[in-house]
Order: sequence, then structure tokens, then C-alpha cells
Amino acid sequence: MWEFETDPAYQEQLDWVDTFVRDVVEPLDFVLDNPFDKRDSRAQAIVRPLKEEVKARGLWACHLGPELGGQGYGQVRLALLNEILGRSRWAPSIFGCQAPDSGNAEILAHFGTPEQKARYLEPLLEGDIASCYSMTEPRGGADPTLFTVRAVRDGGDWVINGEKWFSTNARHASFFIVMAVSNPDVDAYKGMSMFIVPAETPGITIVRNPGVATEPPEQGSLGGVRHDHGYVRYTDVRVPADHLLGGEGDAFAIAQTRLGGGRVHHAMRTVALARHAFDLLCERAVSRQTRTGPLASLQMTQEKVADSWIDIECFRLLVLRTAWLIDKHKDYRKVRKDISAVKVMLPRVLHDVAQRALRIHGSLGVSNEMPFVSMMVTAEALGIADGPTEVHKVTLARQVLRQYTPVETLFPSGHLPTLREQAFAAFADRLEHEAAEL
Ligand SMILES: Cc1cc2nc3c(=O)[nH]c(=O)nc-3n(C[C@H](O)[C@H](O)[C@H](O)COP(=O)(O)OP(=O)(O)OC[C@H]3O[C@@H](n4cnc5c(N)ncnc54)[C@H](O)[C@@H]3O)c2cc1C
Repeated sequence: MWEFETDPAYQEQLDWVDTFVRDVVEPLDFVLDNPFDKRDSRAQAIVRPLKEEVKARGLWACHLGPELGGQGYGQVRLALLNEILGRSRWAPSIFGCQAPDSGNAEILAHFGTPEQKARYLEPLLEGDIASCYSMTEPRGGADPTLFTVRAVRDGGDWVINGEKWFSTNARHASFFIVMAVSNPDVDAYKGMSMFIVPAETPGITIVRNPGVATEPPEQGSLGGVRHDHGYVRYTDVRVPADHLLGGEGDAFAIAQTRLGGGRVHHAMRTVALARHAFDLLCERAVSRQTRTGPLASLQMTQEKVADSWIDIECFRLLVLRTAWLIDKHKDYRKVRKDISAVKVMLPRVLHDVAQRALRIHGSLGVSNEMPFVSMMVTAEALGIADGPTEVHKVTLARQVLRQYTPVETLFPSGHLPTLREQAFAAFADRLEHEAAEL
């Protein structure tokens, strides 16, 4: 059965979310700073009652199962929710599904021990603390087999040394999940492990906090994602053996679980951002006058509207279908090709729609009084974060090509003369019989 409608009860919830985000949450983006800074008591005092409201509606961390404080709604419903939340910087944390914490929560839930869950997962799910995923290294992140950060067993501890790059929210995190080489003598896919490292552990230095493009300019860069991406040095960082997440050598499997979800969640929120740009594009098209009428009456404006609408709808359907596949298989590895497809399409759609909206707004569009430049930079960042587009295209193509086998014949299976010959041979008796009857 094919359904393209949301069930009425959940749609009612979504309608409430839409109004709540528009009226209450979006204005916060202009007045509050970083959602990950849990020490910002002014911000926390304002958002705490809002989180309670979300919890009371049964919409807190709604993708997680009830055992983790969520509703177990799954990825499709999360996608529909994120289509709204993606409009606002603050909305995901008010609804308990903020990256990178949501991905970190997911792997702690999957692979954590009961003690790890009590100490790290529970406060993370409550939104009381923030976390950091520290995987990429300064010498290259697209190929994790080249990572050099080392974890060495020393008695009852692991000792970590090396540098990580672009560890988002390092300076606001209460703990880091660090991927390190724990056994250099085996294949890289089996020689790396994940460690939970509390932020107060001696030996962690944040060398600096690069931002993306021009951020952070000032408060309220609507449409931008205001993060800090820590350049982190680990020097003789010592954690007890029970801070290993999962088993020794499990880092790749854990990373796949985490990144699979994270990529799709970014895509869901991107639908919201692209739609926002589209709405502004259309509003400007019908508002701005030329000597012959509104911009909307010009065919090249109409082309921008049509192309953008088609791009967003195609992307949205691909995202929803991928979310549905994740719910169905409950195993990201089975949906790798689809997730890669979403990841490839995401930056292109956001970039193109934002760029068309920018153009329609002329000088205002390129100014810092509209969100389009920021959206285009976000698109570029999303084309690199969680693996560059090129790598995802390779993943997708490899998976697809695996389903094909080479032909032994001189000409391909679609060769028309060969097919015609085969068809005539298959029907030869009938054709001769019919000819004789005539
Ligand atoms: C906004 C943002 C947030 C991030 N947050 C985090 C985080 O929280 N934690 C974390 O660990 N990392 C994070 N990252 C880092 C991200 O995971 C890496 O940037 C990404 O994996 C690419 O690694 P790199 O930047 O070192 O690029 P490189 O590996 O140097 O690649 C550079 C370019 O080379 C090309 N390329 C590389 N390999 C291939 C290939 N196999 N085939 C074809 N072309 C290729 C691509 O064009 C690629 O963009 C974040 C990045 C961004 C932009």
C-alpha cells in the first residue's frame, strides 16, 4: 500500500509544532546565543519551560524508544517533525533531537553499558548537558583508515594521544566520544575503538574553535548554524577501561550507526531550510514590481519557482522514503545507498534554492539582512560534514553496480537487432501459422 498522507492524529501534533515554532521558538534565534551552551543560565531559564511543554505534548526526543524517554515514533515521523524544526537554530534542542547530541545519544543507547547510560546518556537525553563527537583529524577526515590518534592500554586505563579537527561543540561538551587507533597491527577497520572522555579529564586542550565562513558574526544569524568546531589536542588523556564504548575494535561499526542517523536527520532539517528559502523566493516574486508587472510574471522567475519546487519535492520524497526504509530494516547498513543518495542531494538542493532566492532579492539578497548567503554556506558545509559528496557518490555507485553482472555476449543485453532476432525465433511457429491462415 502506498500512502502519501500523515495520519490525522500526528498531523494535529505537527500543526501544533508549526505554530509553536513560528510564534515562540523562531524569535529565540534572534535573542539567544548557542543552544549547546548549557551554562548560559539566561537561555536555559527561557527554554526550560518550553521543553516541558514539548514533553507534555509527547514530542520530546520522539525518535527514541520509550525506554529512553521518547515515544518510539521512528524516523518517518521524526522527518515530518524535523521539516518544521529545521527552520530554527533553537528548535531541535527544545524538542530533544539536536545534532550532534542526538547521534551520540543513539550510539550510547545502542552500545553503552548500564553505567555509561546512567552517567552520560540520561543527562544528555534530558538536555542538561551537551556532547562532542571527536573523529576527524587534521590530516584528513574523509578516509578514517588514515587516522593516527592513538589509544594505548596501561594497566586498568587507556591513554589517548593525538589531535582531532572540527569536533563540533567541543567547548560546550561535558564529554567527548573519541575514535582512536587501539591496535595498529591489524586492519584499520578492526583496529580502532571509541572512548567516552569526560571533558574535565586532564590533557584535553582546545587549540582553537574554528567557525564556518563568517560565523559567529553577531547574535541572530537566521538560517545559519552557529557552532564551534574544536581543534582538540589530547595529551596523555587517561580514561578507565570501562570508558570504552562497545568492544575493542568496534569503532567503525559504531561510527556507521551514528553517521547513518545523523546524515538523514540533517537532510530532514534541510527540507525546512530549503522551504523557507522557497517561500521567501515566491513572496518576493509576487511583491517586487518591474515596469511590466511583478517579477512573478517573468518567465525566468517562473523557471526559478518551478525548478525549486521540483527540487524540494523530489528531495523530500527521497528523505521520507529513506526514513521509511530505516524504520523498516532497523539497520542503517541496509540503507547505506539510500542514505548516501540523500546526502549527495542535500547540499545541491539547499544551495540551488537559496541561490535562486538570493538572485530574486537582488542586492538585498546578497546582503547580510537576508539569510541566503548563510544558507549557501550551510549547504557547502553539509556537503562536507559526515563525509564529502564525492565519497557518498562512490558508495552509492558501488552498491548499485553490485546488483549487475557482466554479459558474456559481444553485444549488450539491450542490443535491438539481437532482441528482434530472439523475438522472431520465439514466435516463429505462431507467425508461420498465422501467415499460412491468411
Ligand atoms: C560543519 C561541519 C561539522 C563537522 N562536525 C564534525 C564533528 O562533530 N566531529 C568530527 O569528527 N568531524 C566533524 N566534521 C568533519 C567532517 O566529518 C570532515 O570534514 C569530512 O569527513 C571530510 O574530511 P576533511 O574535511 O578532512 O576533508 P578531506 O578528507 O581532506 O577531503 C577533502 C576533499 O577531497 C575530496 N575527497 C576526499 N576523499 C575523496 C574520495 N575518496 N573520493 C573523491 N574525493 C575525495 C572531496 O572533495 C573532499 O571534500 C565536520 C565538518 C563540517 C563541515
